[in-house]
Amino acid sequence: MIDTLRLTAYEAARLLREKEISGAELWEAYRRAIDERDPELHCFLHVCDDPGGDGIPLAVKDVIGTKGIPTTAGSKMLEHYVPVYDATVIRRAQEGHGLRVLGKTNTDEFAMGSSTENSAFGPSLNPWDPTRVPGGSGGGSAAAVAAGLAPWALGSDTGGSIKQPASLCGIVGLRPTYGTVSRYGIVAFASSLDQVGPTAKTVRDAALLYKIIAGRDPCDSTTVDVPPVELPSAEDLRGVRVGVPKELNEAEGIEPGVKAAVDGALAHAERLGARLESCELPLSVDYGLACYYLVAPAEASSNLGRYDGVRYGLRSDGADFREMLMRTRHDGFGDEPKRRIMLGTYALSSGYYDAYYGRAQKVRTLIAQDFKDAWERFDFIASPTSPGVAFELGAKADDPLAMYLNDFCTVPMSLAGIPGISIPNGLSEGLPVGFQIAGPAFSENRILDAAHALEGAIGFDGRQAWA
Ligand code: GLN
Repeated sequence: MIDTLRLTAYEAARLLREKEISGAELWEAYRRAIDERDPELHCFLHVCDDPGGDGIPLAVKDVIGTKGIPTTAGSKMLEHYVPVYDATVIRRAQEGHGLRVLGKTNTDEFAMGSSTENSAFGPSLNPWDPTRVPGGSGGGSAAAVAAGLAPWALGSDTGGSIKQPASLCGIVGLRPTYGTVSRYGIVAFASSLDQVGPTAKTVRDAALLYKIIAGRDPCDSTTVDVPPVELPSAEDLRGVRVGVPKELNEAEGIEPGVKAAVDGALAHAERLGARLESCELPLSVDYGLACYYLVAPAEASSNLGRYDGVRYGLRSDGADFREMLMRTRHDGFGDEPKRRIMLGTYALSSGYYDAYYGRAQKVRTLIAQDFKDAWERFDFIASPTSPGVAFELGAKADDPLAMYLNDFCTVPMSLAGIPGISIPNGLSEGLPVGFQIAGPAFSENRILDAAHALEGAIGFDGRQAWA
């Protein structure tokens, strides 16, 4: 009997290699887990048939295009859209590694949100407590991995959508350096921020999946050659300098239980030999959210312009082109994309462009500089991933600003294009807390090593969810 709750992708690969289990048995085990628990948790928008073979199953966030498999981005606009080509990350996962797409996971519409409550197809629930959200936008992936419905998953992160749901579901999420993973075939949200990355049970699994998907892609000119990805092996943090920014660790909105858990992880880091020092990131935190919520909607308003009822996706009837276009967008987009289209179009409109979008881009440069200054003294920056634990469904759904505050600890890194990981580091109120480690561009190997060492010391048991 395969225990999907315990099994890591690394271990599954070993079992397959040594022929202790067959590819069909492994697939069946996940399908059974999905049939049992997904009617309640609603992690999947689509579950696939076994394509055959001996590869490890992979859950895929539904903003990642999959040939012949529906790809909805959580939106009515793409409800019946079936891509005719695979995203590069899917091609890489299949070719050479034989990974099999298990299903497409739920997401906030066009990846806009922090709880999956913006999905046009209803929210996913948190396996730790089904009255609470799993985070977002990649909440379907995170809940699926945490509940043993998938060994690992591919997500996308614009302002925190890999790390924040990983944090709320007690698993690992890596947002790599901008440009290390191809965006070709991904439903675009905010192109200068969107980044694909892994969600997994362990740091080693996250490294494995990152290794598979990373690399330059001729189809995405923003990708670059990536230093070879190594599987993490460090057992200690000797000589590692960790900056602990006051603004991200002592801010008012951080729940006391989260702060206590993060302090616990910092104490572990110190015991493993790290040198901790309090520091400041004055601009990132004061201006991060405001800057992100100008840049991201501006780019989204431009990207979503392609849904015009003509090329692909939903088309509503209308007497003439204009009416057809208006009805299509009225029927196809939910409230959050509409809100962002309005904000973004305003910020980009002539007369306001310099005051809003132009100004935000300048602030973004300063935020990146904030981090560059920090790297002169530190290898990493550490903080909570999310200011709070998983919240009740509906608690923030009617208050966009409260929802945006969830991204407080993750958007600065997105704006700076730098990598970061979230690992589970304990519980607060019986719910998982995530610990975020961010580093300079292309420091994934070192981040993964540090996270691996800490993971061992923390000894978080994800199965507590089922005790
Ligand atoms: N919660 C953030 C937003 O709504 C981030 C989403 C994401 O990273 N895709 O924009």
